[in-house]
Amino acid sequence: MGQITLSGVTKRFGAHEVIPPLDLEIGDGEFVVFVGPSGCGKSTLLRLIAGLEDTSGGRVLINGNDATTVPPARRGIAMVFQSYALYPQMSVRSNIGFPLKMAGMARGPRDRRVEAAAAILNLSPYLERRPGQLSGGQRQRVAIGRAIVREPAAFLFDEPLSNLDAALRVSMRQEISDLHRKLGTTMIYVTHDQVEAMTMADKIVVLNAGRIEQVGSPLELYRAPRNLFVAGFIGSPR
Ligand code: ADP
Ligand code: MG
Repeated sequence: MGQITLSGVTKRFGAHEVIPPLDLEIGDGEFVVFVGPSGCGKSTLLRLIAGLEDTSGGRVLINGNDATTVPPARRGIAMVFQSYALYPQMSVRSNIGFPLKMAGMARGPRDRRVEAAAAILNLSPYLERRPGQLSGGQRQRVAIGRAIVREPAAFLFDEPLSNLDAALRVSMRQEISDLHRKLGTTMIYVTHDQVEAMTMADKIVVLNAGRIEQVGSPLELYRAPRNLFVAGFIGSPR
């Protein structure tokens, strides 16, 4: 289960209110895309959901439970970062299994989970390799594998493909969509790429200076953008 509710969530850095009170409901299993210009608060929102940043006010609910003060490791939320952050000296197997090792899981069950995740990501032949022996796309999949093994309630992706070249970006986009279909887990995906937003999302959240301009399906936003800002972002002919 991965239902996430933000209720009056705010974030200030000193005197700078980056997120004015914000309400948002994310349903279990939804693929939600956050779009908006650089600096509008997309990464901050993800960090607030993951618990990597404390809210200045309001509440974060996960499956109806107040998670506002629950530490990141206990929220059941996995964040996939843009930089791969893999351990170069460790095998793919050890990289993927690392969070489980840290949680104290024994080798047998750990290996079974790692192998299941590798199968989902088409990484089974590469388990004994090191990250340096993999392509960029494979390394990205290892990073995702490390999130999958934790069996999180939700995955958060912060512009995961922006470092990749155009061709790889297209194939990884498809892989992440396939992964969502296979796992059925809630995913929140930040991008400033309109094509990614329109093709991947069940629901798009358009952000502007920390505020939600509009929430809707790609078709709803395309057909009925609420204002020029949304129209400009979605690229619809309003
Ligand atoms: P986005 O991911 O949409 O580009 P961010 O969430 O990174 O935007 O940043 C939103 C705003 O908050 C920006 O104005 C940024 O400068 C500010 N900000 C983010 N993190 C910090 C921080 N740790 N300290 C001070 N200001 C920050
Ligand atoms: Mg960001």
